[in-house]
Amino acid sequence: MPRGVVPRQPARTGRQDKVSGALTPMSAKPSQKQLSRAKTAPVKAKAAPLSKATKAAKSAKGYNPIAPERVAEILKRLNELYPQVTCALTHKSAWELLVATILSAQSTDVNVNRVTPELFRKYPTVEAFAALPHEQLEPDVRSTGFFRNKSKSVVGAAKKIVADFGGQVPDDIDKLLTLPGVARKTANVVLGSWFKKAVGVVVDTHVHRISRRLELTKENDPQKIEQDLMKIIPQDRWILFSHQVIWHGRKLCFARKPKCVECPLENICHAGDKTWSTVEMHKKVVG
Ligand code: SF4
Repeated sequence: MPRGVVPRQPARTGRQDKVSGALTPMSAKPSQKQLSRAKTAPVKAKAAPLSKATKAAKSAKGYNPIAPERVAEILKRLNELYPQVTCALTHKSAWELLVATILSAQSTDVNVNRVTPELFRKYPTVEAFAALPHEQLEPDVRSTGFFRNKSKSVVGAAKKIVADFGGQVPDDIDKLLTLPGVARKTANVVLGSWFKKAVGVVVDTHVHRISRRLELTKENDPQKIEQDLMKIIPQDRWILFSHQVIWHGRKLCFARKPKCVECPLENICHAGDKTWSTVEMHKKVVG
């Protein structure tokens, strides 16, 4: 894009006047509002120029959103944007991470991190949790929402870990999935972030939304999304990819009003619910 030229807001329909190709920048003059937004955008947030690989992929006949070159470009830009991100849930052991992940359902990591330090001070071991009636835990986790179910899951998981796994959180997905309240997302978080085992891809609400916006999947079911992602992302990137996309969802790619104007993935993202675009938007693609 030429210096000083900022594309105008896209039409709500996603149709772009004067856009002849998927990556053709628009040349309308920026409004005052856009200029001030662009000035406040962090340096990192400038859209990276297209790599040769992406240009080659775009010039090929037919658009393939999961072409290896496009996927590699997405991974490259995520690496540049979030080079060293890790799990945002505070934890000191596999058990603490398991509990924090169970509590994070329908809640925020910030909220969970407010609750867990006192929780683990009060009940320092898995055995301490296993000895509780689940009702006793409810006031401690109330602020994370769905506290009755979460209390049952945490105490139930503790009881099973003590009874069947010698008090140790298992590092095996099949065993983890036998614990109450543990589905693939939670199991993948524990395996990836604590045991460093890339068994699957964590699909939380951010990965769900952003994978769809970036057309890495058309699925809506988390398990099917995970299967799609596992096919196109190299296994050695599964753990980091999830962390990076979760951070992207927190920092820029919000469910409502994503900050597309600041997003380094903008010129390779065709989501129909973008708030700003220099490229053709695909109306049916939404997060
Ligand atoms: S929807 Fe916007 S913020 Fe999200 S990836 Fe696309 S351009 Fe970036």
